[in-house]
Parts: sequence; structure tokens; C-alpha cells
Amino acid sequence: MARKRTDEGKECDVIGCSRPALRSVATKKFSSAVPDAQVPGSRRVHVCKDHYKKFRKKTKRDRKLERLDW
Ligand SMILES: [Zn+2]
Repeated sequence: MARKRTDEGKECDVIGCSRPALRSVATKKFSSAVPDAQVPGSRRVHVCKDHYKKFRKKTKRDRKLERLDW
């Protein structure tokens, strides 16, 4: 078994993804930033590097849009 040895041994919470988790983020924020990713209904989700990247990209763009708003 080639199980990874991350500190907490957690996997990405996105359904269908089993890469090692890198970060935990607020579920609401995550699912609004990455709507095509299904996550369980807990408050925070642990996400892998790839999903975290997607999340970061989206949130950056949102911040820009907010600025343009005023
Ligand atoms: Zn993932």
C-alpha cells in the first residue's frame, strides 16, 4: 500500500479526489469559488494542492471584481 505520510494523514475532502490534503478552508468559500467540486457539508474542508490552487485563483479574481465595483 502506497499510502502517503502527511502529518495528519488527511485526504482531500472533494468528492472523487483522494490526493493528500494541504490546507483547510471554509466550506462556503470553497464551494462558491469552485462550484464544480463537491464537498461534504462540514464547516471546513481539507483540500489538496490542486484544489487549493483553483480556490486561490478564484478568490483572487473575486477580490479584483469587488474593487472594480466601487
Ligand atoms: Zn483535491
